[in-house]
Amino acid sequence: MRLVVFGPQGAGKGTQSQRISEKFEIPAIATGDIFRWAISSGTEFGGKVKSYVESGQMVPDDLTIEIIRQRLSEDDVQNGFLLDGFPRNLFQADALDRILAEQGYKLDAALVLEVPQEVSERRILGRRMCSQCGRNYHIDNPPKSDWTCDVCGGDVVRRQDDKDDEKVRQRLRLYHEQTEPLKARYADKGILREVEGQGTPHDVFARITAVL
Ligand code: ADP
Ligand code: ZN
Repeated sequence: MRLVVFGPQGAGKGTQSQRISEKFEIPAIATGDIFRWAISSGTEFGGKVKSYVESGQMVPDDLTIEIIRQRLSEDDVQNGFLLDGFPRNLFQADALDRILAEQGYKLDAALVLEVPQEVSERRILGRRMCSQCGRNYHIDNPPKSDWTCDVCGGDVVRRQDDKDDEKVRQRLRLYHEQTEPLKARYADKGILREVEGQGTPHDVFARITAVL
């Protein structure tokens, strides 16, 4: 299966992507994770994207598309993949179609998780993340001991771009302006799957497997 997942910040994309990836045995590729990893490792690419990511702006399309093109040429994605956070605008969606067409493939599904604005703001403001492995937590769902990651022992912190309400609102604005129009595009292609993102992660996942 080849699928893209989108939805407003805080819709639970990361959590659900992980579950989908396990169930369907396909790698989950999250552009945000790729960028944060490059930034914390201090690579040259990380240096190019840092200011955008930390201020809640979109990374330029050419850099983003190039990293996805490279990732989709690797061996482990030849039997399917899930993209979390890409495409984020119509230009990137066209680029993705071209990359897949070159490989003789097309997308099977575009999953959108819907949550109301208040819910999404509340979720982001409570979100915490392991600074080493990227695992997500929430103030209502903390690690077992003292903000230390259950998986790797790293420090669990607030993401740089979640700290400031204005940056959070900026990202939500960009979502509505640039990413939401993808719904019409994928609906035209007959592959849009809309799922209600409120409820427990378990319930949301059940809705997702029902439509995929
Ligand atoms: P969120 O969905 O909460 O914004 P992500 O982890 O998906 O978090 O993305 C974090 C940041 O990475 C974005 O604010 C943006 O700067 C950058 N980013 C991620 N995906 C893309 C993309 N497809 N195009 C441009 N920038 C992106
Ligand atoms: Zn960790």
